[in-house]
Amino acid sequence: LHVVKIGGKVVDNEGSLESFLKSFVKVKGKKVLIHGGGKIATQVGLKLGVPPRMEKGRRITDRDTLEVVTMVYGGLVNRRIVAMLQGMGESAIGLTGADANLIQAKMRPKHPVDFGYVGDIEKESINVDMVQKILDLDLTLVLPALTHDGMGNLLNTNADTIAATFAIAMAEHFDVSLNFCFEENGVLSDYYKKTVVSKLDRPLYEQYEKDGVVFTGMLPKLQNAFNAKESGVKEVKIGHFQNLEDLMNDNQQGTTII
Ligand code: ADP
Repeated sequence: LHVVKIGGKVVDNEGSLESFLKSFVKVKGKKVLIHGGGKIATQVGLKLGVPPRMEKGRRITDRDTLEVVTMVYGGLVNRRIVAMLQGMGESAIGLTGADANLIQAKMRPKHPVDFGYVGDIEKESINVDMVQKILDLDLTLVLPALTHDGMGNLLNTNADTIAATFAIAMAEHFDVSLNFCFEENGVLSDYYKKTVVSKLDRPLYEQYEKDGVVFTGMLPKLQNAFNAKESGVKEVKIGHFQNLEDLMNDNQQGTTII
C-alpha cells in the first residue's frame, strides 16, 4: 500500500497538481492520497470575509474557519483531485474522515492554546476495516485534512499527521510505503545550494533542528516521518512531487528516513 501526502504548494497550483497526478497514476498497487489546501482556504476565506488567524504559525480553526476548510479541503480540492484522476483513467473516491467513520479524532484541549476545531488522532482513530473494504473495490482513496469527533463535528487535522497515522495503522496489515511529496527534491542540508540529504536518522535530524537547517513546516513533517518509520511503516521518503515513481523506486532520489 502506498500512502502519499501532497504538499500545500502542489495543491495550490493546477499545473503542479496535474504533473503530480500524472506521476501518481503510473504507480501500481493500492494507493491512498492525502492532501490539505491551506493557501486556497486562505484565499477563499478572504473572499468570504474570514481572514486566517494564526498562532505560533498554526491556523486557528474557529467555527467560520471550519466552514471554509470544509468547503475547500472536503469540497473544491478533494473533488478536483478525484475528477482529475478520473480524467487520467484512475478510479478514485474522495471521502472525509467522517465518511464511513474513516477517521475519528479527539478535539484538541483548549489549553494552553485554543486552536478551535482541531482534531488529534492516534492509530486507533483509523477505521482499518473500512479502509480495506474501500481499497478492495480497486479505488484510490483521496482524503482531505478533515476528521470528525463522533459527536457531530468535523475537525481540521494536519494532513502530514493523517498520512503518518494512517500509514502506521495500515502497516499492521500491509507493507506500507509513506511518501511526502513537495516542491523540493528532499530534505535539504543546505537550503540555498539545494543539497539533498539522501538518508536521515534521528540524531542527524536533531542536529539539523539545533542548527536551524530544518525549520517551519519541515519540523512537524519530520516528526511524523520518524514516528511512522519507528512504528512499522516499511519505507518513509520525502521528495519532489514530479517523479513519484523514481522517488519510490530509486534510492538516489529524495530523502529516506532511517
Ligand atoms: P507541505 O508542503 O507538505 O504543505 P510545509 O510547507 O509545511 O509542508 O513544509 C515544507 C516546507 O518546509 C518547505 O516548503 C520548505 O520551505 C520548508 N523547509 C524547512 N527546512 C527545510 C529543509 N531543510 N529542506 C526542505 N524544506 C525545508
